Amino acid sequence: MKIAVCVKHVPDRRTRIDPVSKRIDRTGSGELNNFDLNAIEEALRTKERIDEPQGTEVVVVSMGPSQADESLRTALGLGADRAILVADDVAVGSDLIATAKVLSVVLEREAPDVVLFGQQTSDGGGALLWAAVAERLRLPVVSQVTELTLADGKLRLSRQTESGDDVIECRLPAVVAVTDAINEPRYASLKGMMGAKRKPLEVLAVEDLRLEAADVGDAGSKTTVLGIKDPPSRADAARIEDEDDAAEAILRFLVDRDLV
Ligand SMILES: Cc1cc2nc3c(=O)[nH]c(=O)nc-3n(C[C@H](O)[C@H](O)[C@H](O)COP(=O)(O)OP(=O)(O)OC[C@H]3O[C@@H](n4cnc5c(N)ncnc54)[C@H](O)[C@@H]3O)c2cc1C
Repeated sequence: MKIAVCVKHVPDRRTRIDPVSKRIDRTGSGELNNFDLNAIEEALRTKERIDEPQGTEVVVVSMGPSQADESLRTALGLGADRAILVADDVAVGSDLIATAKVLSVVLEREAPDVVLFGQQTSDGGGALLWAAVAERLRLPVVSQVTELTLADGKLRLSRQTESGDDVIECRLPAVVAVTDAINEPRYASLKGMMGAKRKPLEVLAVEDLRLEAADVGDAGSKTTVLGIKDPPSRADAARIEDEDDAAEAILRFLVDRDLV
């Protein structure tokens, strides 16, 4: 059994858009996207639940800048067995379509039984990539998953919806996007973090995947960001700076409007 987990290295501070390139500024420090911790945890728990866990492999896969290896080492420290990072300057500027193309080629090569994703990222926040990858791989996809059991070569999944929970049975291989309600991610132990340094982390360029520069980056993308702007400010909002009198100022604000 092989479980692949797609993870993203995201900026660890408030997302800043570069006004010239209109792209997210990824030059600062980053971290493993939060929802992806839940996906890794579910992969590890699934492996632990299987009778012969030594026959099961958890592989984490990412496309990102070279410093995304930090997030992959975090995943290896938590217990993943192996990591693959596609890091290549020609891939900079890849939109959803180009990102899905690259990840799909890696996943085709790996041929996992289950591909896990987090529900969404804290930077792009599209909550969409898993659908695009599943479409390219022609695999079934279930999103918003809050429970996952693997039995008799099938997945049994609970899927959260506005009107209740769907229970879905799904054949393998399949793509699954999990929410943060599915589990409580573990912390890496010191032993795990030390061991992570010795686990395999393969760094690939786009040409290693038999893709061309035209398949990725700006050239391989179908969307162009034309402009960016702040959300409109709310006309009735007041900003109160705290100079040791914030509580009084808030009270005055509420009393003036007959709200208390
Ligand atoms: C014109 C344009 C240019 C862009 N240029 C860049 C760029 O230069 N660099 C860049 O990083 N992004 C770039 N992006 C954003 C990039 O396309 C998205 O980050 C990517 O498609 C994933 O979308 P998302 O962040 O909304 O992920 P979601 O759909 O919200 O993510 C769902 C899940 O997919 C997985 N996932 C997401 N991203 C990755 C990844 N890269 N590798 C592995 N798993 C992943 C995670 O499990 C995540 O929880 C660009 C977007 C546009 C529109």
